[in-house]
Amino acid sequence: KKRIAVMTSGGDSPGMCAAVRAVVRAGIYFDCEVFGCYEGYSGLVQGGDLLKPLVWEDVRGWLSLGGTLIGTARCQEFRERAGRLQGAKNMVLRGIDALIVCGGDGSLTGADLFRSEWPSLLDELVESGELTSEQVAPYRTLTIVGMVGSIDNDMAMTDNTIGAYSSLERICEMVDYIDTTAASHSRAFVVEVMGRHCGWLAIMAGVCCGADYVFVPEQPPSAANWREEMKKVCLRHRERGRRKTTVIVAEGAIDDELNPITSEQVKDSLVELGLDTRVTTLGHVQRGGTAVAFDRLLATMQGVEAVKAVLESTPDTPSPMIGIQENKVVHIPLVEAVKQTKAVAAAIERKDFEAAFKLRDAVFQE
Ligand code: ATP
Repeated sequence: KKRIAVMTSGGDSPGMCAAVRAVVRAGIYFDCEVFGCYEGYSGLVQGGDLLKPLVWEDVRGWLSLGGTLIGTARCQEFRERAGRLQGAKNMVLRGIDALIVCGGDGSLTGADLFRSEWPSLLDELVESGELTSEQVAPYRTLTIVGMVGSIDNDMAMTDNTIGAYSSLERICEMVDYIDTTAASHSRAFVVEVMGRHCGWLAIMAGVCCGADYVFVPEQPPSAANWREEMKKVCLRHRERGRRKTTVIVAEGAIDDELNPITSEQVKDSLVELGLDTRVTTLGHVQRGGTAVAFDRLLATMQGVEAVKAVLESTPDTPSPMIGIQENKVVHIPLVEAVKQTKAVAAAIERKDFEAAFKLRDAVFQE
């Protein structure tokens, strides 16, 4: 029987539990044994109770849950070869040679590195006497499959990441709450949302909540006059009778000189208009709560596909990342997706905002 380990790694996101559930149950359906790797890569490195079988009943009720019940962590040891050696040993001892990782680009990079080193890790374990050549012989090839779990929707080559729509839903609920009080008092609110270097949550929240103005990293406004531009737009809306002002600021917002645009700066500009202005940084409520229907669906479809990808993989297949493009579940070479994701950050860094926006296009086209 094929033995597959499944883990969640990096920042948590709603739908990760649904993804694990799908892997466990599809694995059982396809006659595999599935192991839960707890606490991200720490489960591989430490083994013991952090790397143990999951059966059908273990994931009962997980479909709708937020967060991840097998835990997630940032594991420094796995960044070092010594940690990865320990991980390889723990896997071989349990007869596991396939790993499904649900995480962000860092987690998927780590997984691919692990695969590329795998045979040499095994050789080293044999040389040092930690394992015998008989023990490692059946497990010479490691299969890696990635799924993207992230509220930020910041991975290239896939339209949606697991958790992004749940987070967007939370943001919309919160902005709706803020809107009622803002309109009552005729106030302005600056709402800071997550997304790290990606503006998807901010731009989508702006559209879905009817914000006056949105700041995103991929389309930075001019350092010289963004304050005046924003004030002009907000003022125009007020003159037309709007009783509230809502400006959404992505946490990674910058101007075209790469200076951060902070919520406080935005607030100060709105105060100059004479508006009674408050800042609300939504914070971790954006990661919380149950997964919305779309994330449950995405996680389930991708989890099943990830197990199929493990069973179909050959030593020559590049590690796939299971993604979604135009409503179809697809396999994308994991390395390429990570490369393109890094290219967006690099384009912003060299102030080539047109390229950054284009590279994010698939995401923003919605
Ligand atoms: P998020 O986007 O939510 O932050 P992420 O997967 O990008 O998720 P990271 O903190 O970058 O989050 O990575 C999670 C874990 O993956 C790290 O703590 C580490 O254990 C492993 N990892 C990341 N990059 C590497 C790498 N280059 N080599 C080995 N392991 C890595």
